[in-house]
Amino acid sequence: MAKSKFEYVRQFEVEDKCLPNCWIVVRVDGKGFHRFSEVHHFMKPNDDRSLKLMTKAADCVMEEFKDIILAYGQSDEYSFVFRRNTTVYNRRASKMMTNIASLFASSYVFYWPRYFGTQMMQYPPAFDARTVLYPTDKNLRDYLSWRQADCHINNLYNTCFWKLIEDKGLTPAQAQDRLKGTMSSDKNELLFSELNINYNHLPELYRKGTILIRDKDNQDLEKSLSSTGSSSSGSQGSYRVPSSRSRPNIISLNEDLIGDQFWENHPEILNP
Ligand code: ATP
Ligand code: ATP
Ligand code: MG
Ligand code: MG
Ligand code: MG
Ligand code: MG
Repeated sequence: MAKSKFEYVRQFEVEDKCLPNCWIVVRVDGKGFHRFSEVHHFMKPNDDRSLKLMTKAADCVMEEFKDIILAYGQSDEYSFVFRRNTTVYNRRASKMMTNIASLFASSYVFYWPRYFGTQMMQYPPAFDARTVLYPTDKNLRDYLSWRQADCHINNLYNTCFWKLIEDKGLTPAQAQDRLKGTMSSDKNELLFSELNINYNHLPELYRKGTILIRDKDNQDLEKSLSSTGSSSSGSQGSYRVPSSRSRPNIISLNEDLIGDQFWENHPEILNP
């Protein structure tokens, strides 16, 4: 195709290819969800509908981008971890994060009625995104631990804050004042002895957030099917091909990922 005289402007585009061999993490975060959650009457401190809708949107992203090996979400954010040597979009950071952010946002809107029923969405939400590279497995684990620790710290604070308002009749300013300068142990004690809550009995969804990983057995099945030339939809051959569609490909966990246990249970994540 002949080039137009305008073509040179392409040279103004900057290269943003991610360094080879690094873990690539894309994190999306809702824009102004403090307000969005108020306008849409989210339950405080944790609205299950939005948490589940966020996870549905993350599921859509993982269905589309097969090189995402793990996602972690809490509050209005989700992090997506790509396999180290992914070549998706030639590792171009802006292509990856803009496609993920827009698919995430459109999925959040698309599936809204499934979780919020007849409650109308009042205005279209937006999600920002960033791409970060982590060169070592330790850096990646520390990143995910950081997000999960953030989930815990915020949830502990928010649980105290809203209980002080709902059960003790404090104003938001008074509740904030009451919690100023408190350590985690103080908050646990406050919940236990004054607010009748054992923090450790709250749902893990709230305390740990949500981890999405691919079902290893399902993946092995799909691999063996494609290597024998069969496909899950094909019906040729002398035996019936087991349908991998009957099991969800992506599984959701609400558990600790800071300790070693999770990584020992799923060694294929770091060493595929
Ligand atoms: P920014 O645009 O800078 O991200 P933000 O208002 O979204 O601003 P965040 O730090 O991302 O600020 O915090 C998200 C806020 O959204 C939380 O503090 C909380 O008030 C609210 N929120 C998000 N998800 C939920 C939920 N599932 N249930 C209740 N509140 C939620
Ligand atoms: P990529 O994901 O790489 O952008 P693409 O399929 O979107 O792939 P584009 O180069 O962006 O490829 O081209 C968009 C294509 O979408 C057009 O070639 C055309 O086929 C179709 N398309 C977009 N808008 C319209 C429209 N208004 N009417 C008809 N076709 C359209
Ligand atoms: Mg933010
Ligand atoms: Mg936000
Ligand atoms: Mg946030
Ligand atoms: Mg296009």
